[in-house]
Amino acid sequence: MTEINGTLLAQEIKKEIAEEVLKITNEGKRPPHLAAVLIGEDPASQVYVRNKVKSCEEVGFQSTLIRRDAAISEEELLGIVDDLNRNSEIDGFIVQLPLPRHINEDRVTLAIKPEKDVDGFHPVNFGRMAQGLPCYLPATPCGIIEMMKRYNISAEGKEVVVIGRSNIVGTPIALLLSQKSNPGNGTVTICHSRTQNLREHTLKADILIAAIGRANFVTADMVKEGVVVIDVGINRVDAPETKRGYKLAGDVDFAGVAPKASFITPVPGGVGPMTVVSLLLNTLKANRKEIYP
Ligand code: NAD
Repeated sequence: MTEINGTLLAQEIKKEIAEEVLKITNEGKRPPHLAAVLIGEDPASQVYVRNKVKSCEEVGFQSTLIRRDAAISEEELLGIVDDLNRNSEIDGFIVQLPLPRHINEDRVTLAIKPEKDVDGFHPVNFGRMAQGLPCYLPATPCGIIEMMKRYNISAEGKEVVVIGRSNIVGTPIALLLSQKSNPGNGTVTICHSRTQNLREHTLKADILIAAIGRANFVTADMVKEGVVVIDVGINRVDAPETKRGYKLAGDVDFAGVAPKASFITPVPGGVGPMTVVSLLLNTLKANRKEIYP
């Protein structure tokens, strides 16, 4: 069994990005610039955005954090998006989700110019991805693809089972791994909350991707020997013995499943760090105008 080290991989990729940034600045150009919009006080969102800003600093990107109170109106937020769309000093930006209930997330996502949508959530980027055209891939699927490439995990001809059908993880990773690409060419099944006999599907999986949001949901009896397990879940579970009172757990019961797996990602330290790196890769592409020349 190989435990995939997402933290180490992310560090390696950050080094590569930092070298690219040096090349850009040595040519007298400004470094890539990512902006993040954070609304309200959601603790998980604050951690994610802090990590993103910190990662920008590590690789030599410029970053701008725009924080507003949860009471901000949709119009005000759309105004911020409009300003960022027009600001030629900013290559790409993200609006951290979830947004407060009174704000329509779809309207905000649609307002972001596809050229600056480094989260890859805009339907134009999603559509381009679905057709195999150049696009900003959504960060988590992009991180999984990069991880598979670097660990030489091929999906070609394999049974791939994805649990979860969200627009940001389950559906895009299922599409990508079924496409004629590396590491695609898999035979992909998407399972979700209405799937009957989930275990029958998961037992067939050569590659199992869990993006559910339920701690330790996938257990050893649901997987076959030699399976590759990619655990996307980030769940808080009570841990009174820790200072914070909770710890992070994936969607997979790591202790039970790992002995049967050929490769497995831990939580934390698996897909999470790769997601942040993907955002940096997209911002670098935006700076170079690779996707939208
Ligand atoms: P989501 O809530 O949008 O989707 C969850 C999916 O799980 C749904 O499609 C649903 O049909 C499916 N599901 C729910 N219960 C099920 C059941 N009993 N059986 C089968 N399927 C079931 O979630 P999401 O945004 O895709 O995120 C999933 C998890 O991944 C969460 O824990 C989230 O925190 C985590 N996440 C991690 C990263 C990262 O960087 N590692 C990024 C995004 C999301």
